[in-house]
Order: sequence, then C-alpha cells, then structure tokens
Amino acid sequence: MRVFRPTVSVYWRDSYLSSHSSQIVKAVPDERKFWYVVLDETIFHPKGGGQPSDKGFQRGTGFKLEDRKAMFSEAVVVHWGKLLDGSPELGPVNAQVDWDWRYLLMRRHSAAHLLDYSLAQVVGHDAVTLDSWLGDPCYVAYRGDPPSQDQFAQIEKVENETVTRGGVIQARQVAADEVHSSFSDSPNLERLPSRKQLRLVTIEGCRPIACSGTHLHDISEAGGIKVKRLEKIPEGFRIRFDLE
Ligand SMILES: [Zn+2]
Repeated sequence: MRVFRPTVSVYWRDSYLSSHSSQIVKAVPDERKFWYVVLDETIFHPKGGGQPSDKGFQRGTGFKLEDRKAMFSEAVVVHWGKLLDGSPELGPVNAQVDWDWRYLLMRRHSAAHLLDYSLAQVVGHDAVTLDSWLGDPCYVAYRGDPPSQDQFAQIEKVENETVTRGGVIQARQVAADEVHSSFSDSPNLERLPSRKQLRLVTIEGCRPIACSGTHLHDISEAGGIKVKRLEKIPEGFRIRFDLE
C-alpha cells in the first residue's frame, strides 16, 4: 500500500482561510454516492481535541463533492463526502469550508481556553482539564472539586471582562520537550498526543495552552459568553457554556 505524505494542515497557518486550492492525491469510492478523498494540503480541521470536523465543498475538473467530514488517519487527513456531480480524479481541486460553522467553532474554542483562565482566576488555582466538546452543547470538564455557586457566577464575569478588553491570540510551534519542561502547569498536558512538535496557543494576558485547534486573532471576536451550567461528574465537574 502506498504511504502518504503527512497532509499539510493549512488551517494552522491561517485559520481564516475559507477557500484553498490543492491537489487530490487519492480518491476512493465508499458506499453509494460517498467518496473518501485525500488532499496534499487542507483547510479542513478534522475532528479532534474537542473540536468537531469542518464541513464544506470540493470542486475539481468535472466533479463536485459535499464534504461532510474530515478525519485523521495518523498524520493524513481523510475527507469523506457525498458526490453531487461527476467523479473525483487525481489533480487540482478547490476546497471551501462552511465558514459560518468554522467561525463559530473558532469563537467557541478561544472562549473555552478563556474559560480555563477565568476558572483559575476565580478559584485561585489551575484546574486540570479532562475533556471538552465544542459541538452542541459545548462544555469543558475539569478534575477536582467544583467551584461554589458564588464562584461559578463570577466565572462568566471574568470571561466577559476579558472579551470586552480584547487580547491578541497567538499560536506557535514548539518542541514537545519544551512544552513539558517550560509549561508544566498547562491544564491539558496529560491529554496531548505524543508528537515531537506541539502548538502553543496564547491569549494575551493568559498562560499558553498546548492546542491543535483553530483560533481567533483576538478574543474580542468571541462576543458575549454565557456560562450556563455546572454539572458534577465522577472525576470532577463540567462547565457548559455557549456564545450569546
Ligand atoms: Zn484548544
């Protein structure tokens, strides 16, 4: 079997790119009108790290595909979708993400990082994250004792003060060793994939968090954040939130 080169994740370079031309390097029919397609470069963020998959369209010579989801197969991103017209062939293709969906996920993802910071500010110590989901409904789960009702009410206030003030969000690639030695208080270190390079995402004024997701340029774009509900779970607690 042919071994693919790792897919170039263009969404890391520019999370605001909604359309991108690249090459189809593999196209395989699935059942009925569905196909698997591998591109050399992609702007589709696959499902992972709590972030749902992007969706959108692919258009190439004589075909159109409704791209329903993208998934990782090791370092290769595999797209899966419904063929609307023609038949995919190796060669040039233009891919377009559903921008409304992607931008919502970017706003939710940056808001989720800010939730880690706001919770730590209110309770006075960092909380280790267990998992998160940025689809519907979205939440972040933390280990340990839940905040009191008073503290819980303050979290939303701290989040929205930061959003109103605004702050640049930056992402940079760093060696995994450096993340583990210099950022040992990052709240999700236990959940990171074992890769040589990791990506550190920093909201201005907050500590960096290792993350592979797509983020805003500035936290002010998140708009109003609603911290909705506190739920106890066996290992800790979950905070459900959404954007206004
Ligand atoms: Zn993240």
